[in-house]
This record gives sequence, structure tokens and C-alpha cells, in this order.
Amino acid sequence: MGDKEAQLYDVAKEAMPAEQRESFLNQKLVDIIQYAYKNAPAIKEKMDRAGVSPGEIRTIKDLEKIPITRKDDFTELQKASPPFGDFLGVPEDKLQRIFISPGPIYEPQDPEEEFEKNAKALYAAGFRRGDRVIITFSFHMVPPGIRVDETLKKLGAVAIPTGVGNTELQVQIMHELKVNGYIGTPSFLMGLIKRAEELGYNFRQDFVLDHAWVTGEMLPPSLRRSFEQDYGISVTQGYGTAELGLLAYECRQKSGMHIPEEAIIEITDPQTGKQLAPGEIGETVVTPFNKIYPLIRFGTGDLSSITTEPCPCGRTSYRLTGILGRAGEETKVRGMFIHPRQVQEVTAKFDQISNFQVVITRKGQRDEMTINLELKDEAIDKQKLTSELAKTYQDVCRVRADKIQFVAKGTIPKERRIILDERTWE
Ligand SMILES: [Zn+2]
Repeated sequence: MGDKEAQLYDVAKEAMPAEQRESFLNQKLVDIIQYAYKNAPAIKEKMDRAGVSPGEIRTIKDLEKIPITRKDDFTELQKASPPFGDFLGVPEDKLQRIFISPGPIYEPQDPEEEFEKNAKALYAAGFRRGDRVIITFSFHMVPPGIRVDETLKKLGAVAIPTGVGNTELQVQIMHELKVNGYIGTPSFLMGLIKRAEELGYNFRQDFVLDHAWVTGEMLPPSLRRSFEQDYGISVTQGYGTAELGLLAYECRQKSGMHIPEEAIIEITDPQTGKQLAPGEIGETVVTPFNKIYPLIRFGTGDLSSITTEPCPCGRTSYRLTGILGRAGEETKVRGMFIHPRQVQEVTAKFDQISNFQVVITRKGQRDEMTINLELKDEAIDKQKLTSELAKTYQDVCRVRADKIQFVAKGTIPKERRIILDERTWE
């Protein structure tokens, strides 16, 4: 290393001690709130409506005083005051590009900060000067293709803008240009590999692709394992939205996504908007330090949680543990949200289970949670399964199951809700 990209994006810059990080983020927050209040009419309007003055926002905790702008309301806000819903923080002639996402939603491009955080993500994923990288995101209308292209330029890697589709041609390009990096969705990458195999190639022998950065859809652990074990490709993922760009990224540890220094992310109770503790699941709410588009407290509708455990890579930023689904699918039990995907994560660890359902009831003032299980084979050690499942369930969902019971095959309908809420509120 020692090259200029390494100095710009190596871990040292992202390894601020915790206290320094806190005051750094609070100062950035104070600055962006003052700026947005003065320059983005929609932010002034929502703060005035809530009776909050910019001076009252000094720490991340103070953000709770400001109402959340929900992604789902955003199209309406833009329609009411086109094209940017009065969220633009600079004169329109300062923009470099305007992207268009389905809606249509218009996204002004920030020419500077955005590529800084993107470069951190791709550097953490192992992208370096001289890499040859196909970018398989779309290059028109929507932001991802161009954003990634600009980022690779910053890192000194060679971008090959192949865009979406044309799998056979893309396989040929990967082969002839000795492409070693991939950026796009995980499903498209697997599509390319399968196409190469159909065309008679042996992927490991005939291609040099060994690292990939994926985003835009879920990356199931089984798919990542297949990329890594079957095809020798290290896959690292990122999380972002069209409005805000990249919001979190994995390092090579692949145990959660680091939140870059360019934004604050709160995990909030989807109903009250209050901040939740590390480990608790709630809506991902973002405040970017972006003067062009200062979307203060933008509710993405994506559910996640934050871990504050130190990461062995040396970056000190907190990490999102992954995207668990959309707000609205979760159920609150004894003050904790559980999401169907968590239950699936737990049961997937136990081969013996053929079907399952979590039923929530209420006894007096207390929520009760029962896990119903159907087994592939009744002749197993049920006691052992029960105690192992109970422990894993509590580890993953952070709330204890009151009862685990076995039911006869066919009792639980195949098309069932994973979490059945039978509570009545009178
Ligand atoms: Zn890390």
C-alpha cells in the first residue's frame, strides 16, 4: 500500500476513538441542522411545526424532537412542491446531475461527499487501483451506475460500464478483459456465473473474478457461501437508498455494515420515532450531512439494528446488523420488535423442523409467545431441541419464548403468517 488511495481511505481515517467520534458527529449534526433550517424550506417548515428551534439540537439524542419524514410520504411532498419538495439546500444551478427513481422521485446529485463515503465502502471491500470492474447497474435515470463509476475513478480502478442485461455478452467481456471485480446485485452475479457455465466455461478456471460488491437486494447467507466456496469470489455488501445514496458498508470481516462518517443513523421505534438501544430492531432513520439534500430524519422504512461491538478491522463506527425487512411487518412483544425474518433465521439452524409458527397472545397484562413446531421425524430428542431452540431464539430475537410446543404434522397451514398476533386490545 502507501499509495494515495490507501492514505485517503485506509482504516486510520475511520478509526477515531469513540469519544472523538461522538463529538465529531455532534458537531456535524449541529452544523447541518443550522444549515438545513436556513436553506431548505421543508426542514424549516417541519421544525417550526414541531416547535423545535435549531439551537435545541446539540446531540444525536436531541434529534428525537424533530419529526421523521417517511420515504412513503416523499413522493407526495415532491409533487406538492416540485421537483425536490423544498428539501434542496443549494441553488438549483449548483447541481451536477438530477437522477430519476420510480415515482418519479427526483434526486439531486451531490458532487463531492457522496463519492467519499462510496470510496470508503469499495476500498473496504478490497477494490484497488488497476482493478478491472464491471458495473452492472443501470446507467440511465437511476443513480447507482453513475455513482459507482465516479467512485471507481476516485480509487483508480478501471470501470467497465456494462449495465443491465446482455448476460452472454457480459460473460464474453468478463473473459476477454480479464475482469476481476464485479459491482451489481447478487442475483445478477449468480445469473452471469450460471450463463458462463451454460456456455461451457469452468468458472473458477476460465475467469479471474475474485471480488464483488453487491447492493440493492438481500444477500442470503447461502448465496454468499456459494459465491465464496463454489466460485472463489469474496462478496461484500452495502446498503443505501436512492434518495440518500450509500448508508452503510461491510468491511472484510462481513459482520455488519459500518456507518460512514457522512451521516447519522438512528434506529427508532416505528410507532413513536423514539431511539432504541443497540441490538433492538426498529426503523432505520437517516440524517445525512449533505448540504445539497439535507433530508433531516429521513425514515427509510427499512428495519435494522445497530451493534456497538468493536470490529476487528479497526474501524470504530457502529454497524447496522443487516436489513431485516420493511417496517410494518414486525410485531412488538413485551416492548421488543420481532420480525418474521429473525424467526426464519432461528428455525433455519434446525434441520429437524419442517414447519413453524410463532403465536402471540395476551394473558392479563403480559404478552405470551408460543412457538409451534412440526417435525420432520418425531423420533428425536425433543427436550434437547427445545432447549437449543430456546437459547438460539433468545439470542437472535432478544426476547424469550414462553412456550415451545410440538404439534402434529399438518396442524400449521403451509401458507401461514410466521408471526400470528392473536392479541386483542380492549
Ligand atoms: Zn469492520
